[in-house]
Amino acid sequence: MNFDFTNEQKMVREAIRKFVENEIAPIAADIDARHEFPMENIKKLGQYGFFAIPFSTEYGGAGGDEISKAIVLEEIGKKCGATSGISSVHYLPTMLVDKYGTKDQKEKYLNKLITAEYIGAFALTEPSAGSDASNVQTTAVLDGDEYVLNGTKCFISNGGVADFYIVLAMTDKSKGIKGISAFIIEKDTPGFSIGKIEDKLGICASATAELIFENCKIPKENLLGKEGRGFILSMVGLDSGRIGMASQALGLAEGAMEETVKYLKEREQFGKPLIKMQGLQWYLAEMETKIEAARGLVYKAAYLKQTGKPYTKEAAIAKLFASEVAMFVTHKAVQMHGGYGFMKEYPVERMMRDAKITEIYEGTSEIMKIVIANQITR
Ligand SMILES: Cc1cc2nc3c(=O)[nH]c(=O)nc-3n(C[C@H](O)[C@H](O)[C@H](O)COP(=O)(O)OP(=O)(O)OC[C@H]3O[C@@H](n4cnc5c(N)ncnc54)[C@H](O)[C@@H]3O)c2cc1C
Repeated sequence: MNFDFTNEQKMVREAIRKFVENEIAPIAADIDARHEFPMENIKKLGQYGFFAIPFSTEYGGAGGDEISKAIVLEEIGKKCGATSGISSVHYLPTMLVDKYGTKDQKEKYLNKLITAEYIGAFALTEPSAGSDASNVQTTAVLDGDEYVLNGTKCFISNGGVADFYIVLAMTDKSKGIKGISAFIIEKDTPGFSIGKIEDKLGICASATAELIFENCKIPKENLLGKEGRGFILSMVGLDSGRIGMASQALGLAEGAMEETVKYLKEREQFGKPLIKMQGLQWYLAEMETKIEAARGLVYKAAYLKQTGKPYTKEAAIAKLFASEVAMFVTHKAVQMHGGYGFMKEYPVERMMRDAKITEIYEGTSEIMKIVIANQITR
């Protein structure tokens, strides 16, 4: 058992911290207020190699360190939940092309995704297929050399700003989940349009949109993986994505903790700094304990993935716990800032709003419990 980070992981942390300090933190409040997608920073994260970390060297990846990837999302999450979420979502389709793409698909897309020349999105959810992701109604019918897609996806992160979408559609309804397939769809494909852009409680700088497919024709080479294997592919993607979401949640909790300690040292009431109040110190101790536990769970899940061991249960545990910790810590952070915590000039109110999504997307907390229980009881 070794709890030390490798030199490479330490270097990644140092590099991403500098990037966050110089580029992400200064605009975090502003892009939240203006609901503005941080395109320039996402492009830079790609250009500087942060999205390359866990991917094949053959296509410009850095060779696979899942803990480093978790560190990147965690460090970004400390200052901007939205940018961390966008990055985590971008990793998911990239990972699926890396794992399931044909040689041609990898040649065409992988390097572009790794460098963020293309921004990626993953579209599973539909109005009637949320937690029950198997209830996909979007159809894909093979017609000669093309698949024709019809249907609507909702709540899709990076929707409207992405260049590259992995879309799940039913190719054979009679086979249930074994009739779901995954497809690559580029923006500007005729028959594909963006519908409603969501106005959200948190991660306001991220884009969340409806995708509409109306006789959208794509070459049959755009099938990702085998026909009928789309549901399995999605579950593999989500297992991995959940470590990303847990890292985002961990970062948010750590960021709120840092802000709170700083504030309590500065603010005086009853003739002494708030940090000296035992009642508040007890809150801090509780917050720190939960953060430390979440950190262990996140890194453990990432470690299992990078060493090729099963990690479905551990990824779900990490997401379930870290997202609840993010909510607990950010909520307490607002409380300990008093009235100032409720004001937009302090970042903790944004952190509290941003934390909520980590309990919902890529599987709600209730669904995480089902995943964990299924792994225990099977
Ligand atoms: C900001 C945002 C970004 C998103 N990004 C993406 C994306 O990029 N791609 C994508 O495909 N999807 C995305 N989603 C969709 C997200 O994954 C779903 O919203 C989520 O899985 C829940 O589905 P639902 O909203 O339909 O809720 P429902 O499934 O209707 O759930 C409602 C409530 O019932 C509970 N529930 C449901 N089933 C059970 C059960 N069996 N037992 C106990 N409780 C249950 C849920 O936990 C929840 O509390 C995003 C959502 C949001 C809000």
